[in-house]
Amino acid sequence: MDADVLIVGSGAGGGTLARALADSGLRILILERGDYLPREWGNWDPQTVFASYRYHTEETWGDGNGQPFHPVTGYHVGGNTKFYGAAILRRRPTDFQERRHVDGVTPAWPIRYEDLAPHYDTAEHWYFAHGAAGSDPTEGPRGPYPFPPMPHEEDVALVDTALRAQGYHPFPLPLALHRLEDDPAQSPCVRCPACDGFPCLVHAKGDAELCGVRPALQHANVTLLRNERVRRILLAEDGRRVSGVETDQHRYHARLVVLAAGAVNSAALLLASRSETFPNGIANRSDQVGRNYMCHLNSACMAIKITRENRSIFQKTLALNDFYEDSGDPDYPYPLGHIQGLGKVTPALLHAQRPRWPIPMTAWAASHSVDWWLTTEDLPSPENRVTLDERGGIQLHWQPKNRESHRRLCAKWQDILQKIGFSLVFFQSMDISATAHQVGTCRFGDDPQTSVLDRNCKAHDLDNLYVVDASFMPSISAVNPSLTIMANAIRVASVLRERLRSS
Ligand SMILES: Cc1cc2nc3c(=O)[nH]c(=O)nc-3n(C[C@H](O)[C@H](O)[C@H](O)COP(=O)(O)OP(=O)(O)OC[C@H]3O[C@@H](n4cnc5c(N)ncnc54)[C@H](O)[C@@H]3O)c2cc1C
Ligand code: SF4
Repeated sequence: MDADVLIVGSGAGGGTLARALADSGLRILILERGDYLPREWGNWDPQTVFASYRYHTEETWGDGNGQPFHPVTGYHVGGNTKFYGAAILRRRPTDFQERRHVDGVTPAWPIRYEDLAPHYDTAEHWYFAHGAAGSDPTEGPRGPYPFPPMPHEEDVALVDTALRAQGYHPFPLPLALHRLEDDPAQSPCVRCPACDGFPCLVHAKGDAELCGVRPALQHANVTLLRNERVRRILLAEDGRRVSGVETDQHRYHARLVVLAAGAVNSAALLLASRSETFPNGIANRSDQVGRNYMCHLNSACMAIKITRENRSIFQKTLALNDFYEDSGDPDYPYPLGHIQGLGKVTPALLHAQRPRWPIPMTAWAASHSVDWWLTTEDLPSPENRVTLDERGGIQLHWQPKNRESHRRLCAKWQDILQKIGFSLVFFQSMDISATAHQVGTCRFGDDPQTSVLDRNCKAHDLDNLYVVDASFMPSISAVNPSLTIMANAIRVASVLRERLRSS
């Protein structure tokens, strides 16, 4: 045995799980496909991050119709939290229940908000969560945040005031940053404009490397092996357990194996691990592995007030859930989604993404815009799925649901912004390559016919295989997924501790 618990992947799920198990004395082995993300000036350079995509994978996935694309994903210690915008929201209590949408119904989860709440508390402490309890009208019962909310800069505060004057309920966006607002001279986070989508040059973002893997590695019983890409999961002779995994270089054996390679890659690994016992891929007797892939319907929005420059540096501090539960329109009784600030679109960033636009126009637009990120919930569908082509390459089939709700969310936001003085409002919607918020593919549930994992995230078909990344989610909600992945990993850690202690 190389480990008691072998974890594949070191992102939001795997990195957090490692920290949650670290003080147990169990031998923990993390196998990570990538390396530490290099610390260099390019971390904060829009050209490096958004034009040459230095930190994204170069691999291509297929869209199921023969079209290759580069997914917005990277392989590093800390996983995609290295790039995340650090918006860490809890799911609403209603997100755990069935909910009717224009294109269908989201399924209820086998656990409730109350089951996850204590683990949300822990995750928020580990990840330096800033926020204001009670400010979001849709949130569940909770105690105070570990850190006060990140204050709005002047131009965002003006939007906040204007929205309140219109009768809306904006609130401070919960954020995972190691920021000491009352002692800026000592603060690791310097409130820079290159946070959302960028790695943090000064290691102050609450990502899974800083808040999961590094604290775990303080314990002698935890080992991280980098540049170890897992290719296959090994089935034990009895066909009811897994014995370990195979990478390009080695085989590793463990009492328990936990997948945390991300929703697409964990499904691909299971599908690639075929055997006589599991001809369709390991843990896939139900034929559910890879199905029910979901990704948020997202649009970025630039709202321009012609008469005023936006001098904000760290702009991503405001959010709005007024259309989260329903649209507010009697003829359309469905949820529309969530709105949050986007990292400031600077002239350099806009130029990196739109190199053909005339530079004076780019500079003017970016210096006058306040920028937003709009999210609508996708729905699970068995046809939206991960498959492998004949060479083992990833094929991602995705037709998002609830497009009409997303269209209405954008239209409503445009209307509101225009009423408060932003006469020019532009939207850019995301396509299949924007896999940042990938979830589903191995959903948990009580019925082995319709789910891959049980409520403890153990594969129904196997006695010692678990999955703790974004795959487990049966519905995506309209809030960002990371905090829920982290809290769930902490929940599963307590199950694993109990199990290994008693055996
Ligand atoms: C630009 C961007 C912005 C985002 N902003 C936010 C935000 O503000 N808030 C939020 O909540 N979420 C955000 N997200 C999403 C968030 O990063 C993900 O939801 C989260 O990281 C998913 O966690 P995970 O554990 O499922 O996978 P990941 O964090 O992606 O971790 C998977 C890990 O597995 C490794 N791996 C993959 N395959 C293998 C293999 N075969 N063998 C070994 N290792 C493997 C990967 O290298 C990676 O380290 C953002 C993502 C991006 C890209
Ligand atoms: S310094 Fe702060 S704002 Fe800038 S990238 Fe790091 S965590 Fe984000």
